[in-house]
Amino acid sequence: MSAKIIDGNKIAKSIIESVKNKVKSMKEKPGLALVMVGNNPASEVYVNFKEKDSKEAEFYCERYNLDEKTGEMDLLKLINELNRNPKIHGVLVQLPLPKHIDEKLVTDSILPHKDVDGFTSLNLGNLLSEKTILAPATAIAVIKLIESTGTRIEGKNAVVVGRSNIVGKPVALMLLEKNATITVCHSKTKNIAEYTKKADILVVAVGKANLIKKDMVKEGAVVIDVGINRIGNKLVGDVDFENVKEIAGFITPVPGGVGPMTRAMLMENTLKAVELSSRVLQ
Ligand code: NAD
Repeated sequence: MSAKIIDGNKIAKSIIESVKNKVKSMKEKPGLALVMVGNNPASEVYVNFKEKDSKEAEFYCERYNLDEKTGEMDLLKLINELNRNPKIHGVLVQLPLPKHIDEKLVTDSILPHKDVDGFTSLNLGNLLSEKTILAPATAIAVIKLIESTGTRIEGKNAVVVGRSNIVGKPVALMLLEKNATITVCHSKTKNIAEYTKKADILVVAVGKANLIKKDMVKEGAVVIDVGINRIGNKLVGDVDFENVKEIAGFITPVPGGVGPMTRAMLMENTLKAVELSSRVLQ
C-alpha cells in the first residue's frame, strides 16, 4: 500500500483564494505588522513569505526590520504603538529574538486580539478552556490537514511527538478537544516506537531528520510531518518520507505540507483579528 500524499500547497492555495475574496468585500483592509530583529537568514525567508502572502491578499502591511542590537524596551515601545494603531489588526514578531531580549515578555506584550501567531500566554491558555480566540497557526494547519483526508478524529489514538508551547502542546490540546485519545512523546520518552506504532494519527514536530522510520508507524496511519530540517540544499521533515509512505494511509511531504498551510492559517487568523478588533473597545 502506498500513502496518499496530502497536498498542503493545493489546500493552502484554495484557502488563500478565499481569504482574498473576503478581503475584496471588506470595508477596511486587514492590517498586518511584521517585526523582525536581527538578520537570521531563516527568519528573513519566513518574514519575506509572510509579506508576500499579505500583499497578495491585499492586506495593509507594515514591515519593521530592526537592528540586532535593538533594546528590549525599544521593541516593547514599538509593539505598544502597533497595539494602539487602528490600521493594524495583527502583529507578528518573528522568533527567535536575539538572546538579550526576553521572548516571552515581548510575545505577551501583544494584545491578545492582535496576536495572530496565537503565542501569547492568554491565547495559549485559552486552548485549555476551549474558548480559543487566536490559536497558533501551525497547530490549526495540522488539524485542517488531518481533516482534509476525511479522517474522523473522534475516538482515534493520536500521538504527538514534540511538546513545544507553539506546536506540540497546542496540537495535542486541539486533538483532545476533538475527542481523540492523546499521547505526547518528547525528548525524555523511552522507546518512542512503542507509542507511535499505535497511532491512528501521528503528528511529528521535533526538528530531527529521519526520526520516524517505517517500522515505527501503524499501517494506514495519518502522518503529519511538521519538522523542517536542512540537509545540504534540501529541506526534509522528521519522517523518513520515502519509506513511511509505503505503510501510512496519508502523509504530508516536506516541503509542501504543513509549511504552506501554516502561512494560509496566518492569513485566516488575520481576518479573524479584524473581526475581533470590531468587538474590542479601542
Ligand atoms: P522545539 O525545539 O521547541 O521543540 C522540539 C520538541 O521535540 C521538544 O518538545 C522536545 O522534547 C522534542 N524532542 C527533541 N528530541 C526528541 C527526540 N529524540 N524524540 C522525541 N522528541 C524529541 O521545536 P518546535 O518549535 O516545536 O518545532 C519543531 C519542528 O517543527 C522544527 O523542525 C521546526 O522548524 C518545525 N516547525 C515547522 C513549522 C511549519 O510551519 N512547517 C512551524 C513551526 C515549527
